Amino acid sequence: MRAEIIAIGSELLTPFRQDTNSLYLTEQLNQLGVEVSCKAIVGDQREHIAAAARLALTRSDVIIFTGGLGPTEDDLTREGVAEALQLHLRSDPKILAEIKQRFESRGWKMHANNAKQADVIAGATVLPNPNGTAPGQWVSGKYDGRDRMIMLLPGPPHEMKPMFETQCIERLRVKLPAQHIATRTLKIAGMGESQCDGRVAPIYKRFPDVQTTILAGPGEIQLHLRTHAPWAQQAQDRVDTLVDAIEEELGDCVFSDNGDSLEQIVSYYLQMRGKTLAVAESCTGGLLAERLTSISGSSRHFLGGAIVYSNELKTKFADVPEKMIQEHGAVSKEVAAALAEGIRKRCGATIGVGITGVAGPTGGSAEKPVGLVFHGIAAEDGTEVVERNFPGDRQRIRWFAAQQALDMVRRKLM
Ligand code: ATP
Ligand code: MG
Repeated sequence: MRAEIIAIGSELLTPFRQDTNSLYLTEQLNQLGVEVSCKAIVGDQREHIAAAARLALTRSDVIIFTGGLGPTEDDLTREGVAEALQLHLRSDPKILAEIKQRFESRGWKMHANNAKQADVIAGATVLPNPNGTAPGQWVSGKYDGRDRMIMLLPGPPHEMKPMFETQCIERLRVKLPAQHIATRTLKIAGMGESQCDGRVAPIYKRFPDVQTTILAGPGEIQLHLRTHAPWAQQAQDRVDTLVDAIEEELGDCVFSDNGDSLEQIVSYYLQMRGKTLAVAESCTGGLLAERLTSISGSSRHFLGGAIVYSNELKTKFADVPEKMIQEHGAVSKEVAAALAEGIRKRCGATIGVGITGVAGPTGGSAEKPVGLVFHGIAAEDGTEVVERNFPGDRQRIRWFAAQQALDMVRRKLM
């Protein structure tokens, strides 16, 4: 069963308005076990709407249009879809009376334009719109010998959503074969995209019925897995078995198999192990602390720390010896270790983290290029430093650095 969503509206082709209706509809359709195979955004031109509808009729079982049902000249969805279906529009006297009544009750005069909102595609079921003037339409029938379900829904989300939920879901459900979708997301740190892909690709081959997507971000890879089956348990078992196989292959590089963020996982581990954390941040400027404190309840294990951007404050707040900075430079493995140890001691934490690096785009040198970051982690069993060369712009390098530090804390607590 394949669905296609067509969002109508020239405003959706500008940089100022986003098509969010299709995201909502995709989620709803997936819950019904229906995959969305195509999405389109079409401007307010009748011939373009008709062309998109004709193409959709050749390939999709469920076709949902949103928008373009208003009363203005540029609201042409009804006309375009009727043309593609080669069906007439007829004016529905009941809808017309309701629109008139709506205007009269407010003491307004109804414009001739509004009458077109009463136009209904021949054979369509009218979907009342309690939240606006434009009713929706449901058309089902055979086109080119194949069953098609077509919905015309209003564009404003507060009208479209209740209409879909109260009037389309049940109508769809009775026509759909039993189909359930199961999804899982794995999050991975400490590994590049191609390395990860190379290791999981042979596993995917054993699961041809699971769709897989790899998404790479700074310091994090996500594997999205998705399958469908006639029974919910069957779909879930299949995707769970694949998750187990990937986790076995990638080991502790997988930090989450349920959508949790790295900061959530670190928080969880600190809590579970009864440990506390303090940080001294230079190039990340507080990003690490921001991420840690974004987790509710983090006050139980995240003590705090210092943003030590200047050399003076590295000494003053984290006890980094002045001489060490002069000898090795602020961006060095020695200073990263001293920051971690100093802040750990100053704050009385079980674990201390220090970050120092060159976020760029200025300030790099041949010896210490932009992207070079040292991460120190100090605990009762000693201090460790990891040196990394991150690619990208300032924002990306800082995110990478915070991610690396979080991953080091996670591994320490595992
Ligand atoms: P109306 O009676 O309000 O004219 P309509 O069905 O003709 O209803 P549109 O005119 O196409 O709807 O859209 C009205 C508003 O709804 C748009 O300005 C936009 O803010 C919002 N909208 C339309 N389509 C979408 C979409 N796909 N995603 C999110 N918002 C949308
Ligand atoms: Mg419009």
